[in-house]
Amino acid sequence: MSRFWSEIVHGLTPYVPGEQPALAHPVKLNTNENPYPPSPRAVEAIRRELGEDGASLRKYPDPTARALREAVAKHHGVRVDQVFAGNGSDEVLAHAFAALLKHDRPIRFPDITYSFYPVYAQLYGVEYETVALNSDFAIDVDDYRAPSGGVLLPNPNAPTGRALPLSEIEVLLKANPDAPVIVDEAYVDFGAESAVNLIDAYPNLLVVQTTSKARSLAGMRVGFAFGDAALIEALTRVKDSFNSYPLDRLAQAAALASYEDDAWFEQSCAKVVASREKLTAQLQPLGFDVVPSAANFVFAKHPAHDAATLAAALKAKEIFVRHFKLPRIDQHLRISIGTPDECDALVTALSEILA
Ligand SMILES: *Cc1c(COP(=O)(O)O)cnc(C)c1O
Repeated sequence: MSRFWSEIVHGLTPYVPGEQPALAHPVKLNTNENPYPPSPRAVEAIRRELGEDGASLRKYPDPTARALREAVAKHHGVRVDQVFAGNGSDEVLAHAFAALLKHDRPIRFPDITYSFYPVYAQLYGVEYETVALNSDFAIDVDDYRAPSGGVLLPNPNAPTGRALPLSEIEVLLKANPDAPVIVDEAYVDFGAESAVNLIDAYPNLLVVQTTSKARSLAGMRVGFAFGDAALIEALTRVKDSFNSYPLDRLAQAAALASYEDDAWFEQSCAKVVASREKLTAQLQPLGFDVVPSAANFVFAKHPAHDAATLAAALKAKEIFVRHFKLPRIDQHLRISIGTPDECDALVTALSEILA
């Protein structure tokens, strides 16, 4: 604390990301990173952009990320003016708070969800109400009919992994025609249906996606929003009042190349999904209750073992999983899907700890 701090800083409770351990070979199943590398074409595109001597780095990147947005628009069959690009979807979400969610009425999001949402709300002075998930950790869209300043939810939800069918997203959109509805699709490629193709029908819909999870580019920081051109313009106005060049040259090149190699990402998603189903089938006989997941992680609870104690015992074996000390979920562990070897190491370690 310092007398130089602004009043805003005094009031902040920042988001705490999962630990990045400084170990040679940790089994790192705590931040939902993809266990597989990105498309070789993305790596090649970075080398090409860099060139022999890195001379391209002298110059600022395209502030509008036009070529990348065109490729992504083509991928989704939407227009380029319906696509916004930002420095990771976290930044896109932050801009959405400033651009679209600050109104007289509080916004609404689930009580158990991405824990960055309340952090942005605090930073931008956006009031919010949380809406309880039901006892199965499912979102009931009928709970989102009250007038609000906006609705925000991940699909699949995090950290539960549960997905809503597109028909339920449409119910939500129809029930909230006068408020922005933001669907955070960070994990959509692992088993849920995207709402991107609804943006023409619903001018209040903003869909947020990222290259961090399914496309293995968390280290590049590239995220998107899709929506009516007026919503995209709102985000662009905030971006151009904050940082004109949020995406560096290497990130734009890598992400663009990734969208030119869908076969690669579809294959790595399929491997992750297969490992998720196998891991679920291995955790259940160890006594875990596992929430059905459509994401690249599972959310599991052991009725006879404290979750924080289990996480600490795993950490002692250099296996990292995520535990949230939060109401309703402090007995759960969120376990990212690793390679088959990493999943096996986890199952072996848990069998030893529980024995
Ligand atoms: C990982 C994640 C993000 C952020 O992704 P970045 O694009 O890496 O910033 C956003 N929303 C949810 C729900 C996530 O889990």
